[in-house]
Amino acid sequence: MRSDVTQYEMVAPKSLDEVLANLSSEPGKWTLFAGGTDLMVLMESGKLAPKNFLSLWGVKELKGISYTDDSMTFGALTTYGELQRHSKVREYFPMLIQAAKETGGLAIQNRGTLGGNIANASPAADSPPGLLVYDAELELTSVDGSRWVPYDGFHTGYKQMKLGEAELITKIRVPRPDPKGVHYFKKVGTRRAQAISKIVLAGFGLMNEGAVKTVRIAVGSVAAITLRCHKTEAFLTGKSLNDSVIAEASEIFGGEITPIDDVRSTGRYRRQVGKNLLKDFLESL
Ligand SMILES: Cc1cc2nc3c(=O)[nH]c(=O)nc-3n(C[C@H](O)[C@H](O)[C@H](O)COP(=O)(O)OP(=O)(O)OC[C@H]3O[C@@H](n4cnc5c(N)ncnc54)[C@H](O)[C@@H]3O)c2cc1C
Repeated sequence: MRSDVTQYEMVAPKSLDEVLANLSSEPGKWTLFAGGTDLMVLMESGKLAPKNFLSLWGVKELKGISYTDDSMTFGALTTYGELQRHSKVREYFPMLIQAAKETGGLAIQNRGTLGGNIANASPAADSPPGLLVYDAELELTSVDGSRWVPYDGFHTGYKQMKLGEAELITKIRVPRPDPKGVHYFKKVGTRRAQAISKIVLAGFGLMNEGAVKTVRIAVGSVAAITLRCHKTEAFLTGKSLNDSVIAEASEIFGGEITPIDDVRSTGRYRRQVGKNLLKDFLESL
């Protein structure tokens, strides 16, 4: 049953300082509301427990995409539509573009944000695998100041993350990858569009004189969090890619993931398709 809207309070600060002041003066009271595309689903189904919301939509410090020769920085409110329209994102971070294109439909892409996708902490989310593989960092801000943390390790368990009660994600930064690298992103869902992933895999790799110089792999919907596959990466680094190396990598990868049966798929299917995607990525190198 739908929640009763009159029971909710929404405050719409105009600046980051105002957001931070609210969060610090009454810790635990406020729930951040960015695009609302995850929160509104909870509201529609009567599962939205918190009653006090801080709308971030009018906070200009959380908007915009900027870049230097070394990195690109996204305001936490960057939407999937904005990502797709930015020529430099298309040029340097194709996996973020692909994830954005395959996230919901146009309405979701114009309203859903990167910060919300990260903080909602669904292991089936589509941007996190690409962000992990691009070695993203998050800027977390409270009244006491800002700190940058690696995105890898930010999620500690299902819907759990290293974010203080009075903190929010303000920016996401990704270093510009080596232009010679291969970018690989595949989402497998029930349909080609408007489907939550059964499994999603992102990979970035760079070969040097026939051997793997750099490889980064992340996978969604196969564990409690989106997983960076460090053991598989360590095994592959420095190796020439042949059938037996790929088969061994696949076994190690199979040991890293812990897929389960749920409404969208089975653990067995996810494990097999995950291995197929890994093979496809490694063959593309
Ligand atoms: C029809 C539909 C289809 C969808 N399809 C997909 C899909 O294909 N792939 C996919 O990955 N997702 C999908 N989603 C989920 C959703 O659209 C995304 O997760 C989106 O990026 C959430 O962003 P938002 O700004 O709307 O988050 P909100 O709903 O505003 O917030 C989500 C959570 O993040 C918190 N939060 C928001 N911003 C911040 C911040 N800056 N700092 C700290 N906490 C914050 C909020 O408090 C809340 O807990 C879909 C949703 C719908 C309704």
